[in-house]
Amino acid sequence: MNQPELSVEFFPPQTLEGMEKLRAVRAQLAQLKPAFFSCTFGAGGSTRDRTLETVLEMQAEGHMAAPHLSCIGSTRENIRAMLGQYRAAGIRRIVALRGDLPSGMAEAGEFRYANELVEFIRTETGDWFRIEVAAYPEVHPQARSAGDDILNFKRKVDAGADSAITQYFFNADAYFHFVDAARSAGVSVPIVPGIMPIASYSKLARFSDACGAEIPRWVRKQLEGYGDDSASIRAFGLDVVTDLCARLIAGGAPGLHFYALNQAGLITAIWQRLEFS
Ligand SMILES: Cc1cc2nc3c(=O)[nH]c(=O)nc-3n(C[C@H](O)[C@H](O)[C@H](O)COP(=O)(O)OP(=O)(O)OC[C@H]3O[C@@H](n4cnc5c(N)ncnc54)[C@H](O)[C@@H]3O)c2cc1C
Repeated sequence: MNQPELSVEFFPPQTLEGMEKLRAVRAQLAQLKPAFFSCTFGAGGSTRDRTLETVLEMQAEGHMAAPHLSCIGSTRENIRAMLGQYRAAGIRRIVALRGDLPSGMAEAGEFRYANELVEFIRTETGDWFRIEVAAYPEVHPQARSAGDDILNFKRKVDAGADSAITQYFFNADAYFHFVDAARSAGVSVPIVPGIMPIASYSKLARFSDACGAEIPRWVRKQLEGYGDDSASIRAFGLDVVTDLCARLIAGGAPGLHFYALNQAGLITAIWQRLEFS
């Protein structure tokens, strides 16, 4: 099997202890030779400083570091200032998103959709950044239809995105179908599947409801049946997710992007099972 490009996504920790723990997680995952580490950004700017701090630390450790940047609720001036900070720090890769405003937060701001952010980044900074955007094999929850969602994905690529990372999913066919539909619509950039390791059932169910990712019934039933037995949940999850990754790579996926939730163990185990380390 050809080795795909690995990338790993973290969230910015809230405490010094969390930062310290994340350093150890990065050191462990660095052994898998990832192409880049990324760090999420709370929509509305809630993690602005922590995202910057985490990204600069990753870069100082010698890793390719990519900040996520979400535009909903932001002004052009805000985004311009952040792009300037990243550029001055030598950051060359960015994940450009719309984001979701926390409930109750008014939607003031100068961007409506991620394609506007991609366009703005290109206008402001030319080819300085490699721009990643989000894609949804199981359809974004707010899309009017699957076809519309593909066209909206294409808008981001036409605005200048270089590649895409998908929302996580557990059904490989959803990814293959999405890639075919995107190619038919004239999108030729790499589409890297996002992979969520399974560490806990309740957390996974909550996330999946919120972001529109489907947990297949047989997986859900099995996980539910384990109750509090976290060792069985992890062992079963490892089987399911490793099999998913193997099928995606065999079917031509150009890379795997892991949602690490700031943990290294499951990703390392999956990568070893895939025999890439
Ligand atoms: C890899 C990845 C990383 C993420 N990281 C973060 C993060 O760090 N911080 C964060 O807050 N969120 C993050 N998210 C979540 C993301 O912000 C949400 O899924 C959000 O709801 C949509 O963001 P988007 O960039 O895909 O939006 P868009 O591409 O703007 O799409 C949003 C919705 O609007 C529709 N749409 C798009 N453009 C148009 C248009 N021009 N006209 C009409 N309709 C349109 C789309 O079909 C879709 O339904 C991430 C998601 C992924 C997959």
